[in-house]
Amino acid sequence: MADDLIVVAGGGGFIGAQLVRRVLAEGNVKVRAVDYAPVEQWHEVSKDADNLVLDLRLADACGEALAGASTVYNLAADMGGMGFIEANKARCMLSVLINTHLLESARRSDVRRYFFSSSACVYAASKQLVADLEPLSENDAYPADAEDGYGWEKLFSERMCRHFTEDFGLITRVARYHNVYGPHGTWTGGREKAPAAICRKVAEAQVSGHHEIEIWGDGEQTRSFMYINDCVEGTRKIMNSDIDVPINLGSSEMVTINGLVDIVEEIAGIKVTRRYDLDAPKGVRGRNSDNTMILEHLGWEPSIALRDGLEHTYRWIYDQVSAVRAPR
Ligand code: NAD
Repeated sequence: MADDLIVVAGGGGFIGAQLVRRVLAEGNVKVRAVDYAPVEQWHEVSKDADNLVLDLRLADACGEALAGASTVYNLAADMGGMGFIEANKARCMLSVLINTHLLESARRSDVRRYFFSSSACVYAASKQLVADLEPLSENDAYPADAEDGYGWEKLFSERMCRHFTEDFGLITRVARYHNVYGPHGTWTGGREKAPAAICRKVAEAQVSGHHEIEIWGDGEQTRSFMYINDCVEGTRKIMNSDIDVPINLGSSEMVTINGLVDIVEEIAGIKVTRRYDLDAPKGVRGRNSDNTMILEHLGWEPSIALRDGLEHTYRWIYDQVSAVRAPR
């Protein structure tokens, strides 16, 4: 209902900021965005939202964040690409405090629906050993062998959602996001993921004229990448559905990292020499999303083609790179 209060935890982040914009555009006039980063560092700020800066690892802050709320989206987490999560396992696991205190505050107040943003990093490593793998279906999270640190936190938090539903009747929805990219995403600083990192490296090559880039691993590892608009659309659909188990939200268009570079080269209109760093963090060998369940339940799946999404993303990152290099 239009006068319900929707809270987006992590509302200053890449996906959270877009979700805030989306629910406001749908006519939900009461939206609160909560993030611990200072507002000037948010990916985007919606002036029509109630924008709060709070550290949601703290119980009292979660109580304040959810005051009067009927709907909660938890997208807050200390996270980043493979380079960040492999080097910061404890920090990633500490995000368990955010989901725990938010769930506790939600069940003690009038919250009716609660969404948790999980990840494909919950999937068992043993199911992702080859590049040309079967897409991961929801059952592949067990027997549990998640990504160390970050993935285990997501798996544990998924289970907390399930038990809060079973024991306290709180309606929870859990989406396992597969790699999300798009304009306004993190593109530099160490937390960026492969699509943004490749776009930045190619843009730097284009701007500098030095046409050589570094690639982590041999470039033959596979992934699928979901454009931000599909992520926000799917998040809203899953929240409003009756799907009460964790479900994949990802693109099923699988590509190698070398294939990703091919596309970005074509968009940029340049060719680059590829220098492979075989010792860099690589993550699993292969990963793709099985969308059977989401198609069955929603008759919908992420469908924005990688080429189209990268076109928008590359142009945006190119502008950021150019702005940084421009003389003051
Ligand atoms: P992001 O880093 O851009 O956004 C997360 C936000 O949470 C940040 O703005 C950060 O400041 C905030 N945050 C962190 N700790 C906080 C705290 N203690 N209190 C309040 N705010 C805090 O990441 P994103 O890409 O927007 O991801 C959103 C969610 O989706 C995260 O839970 C992430 O794990 C999950 N996810 C993302 C991807 C992806 O590819 N982007 C893939 C799988 C899962």
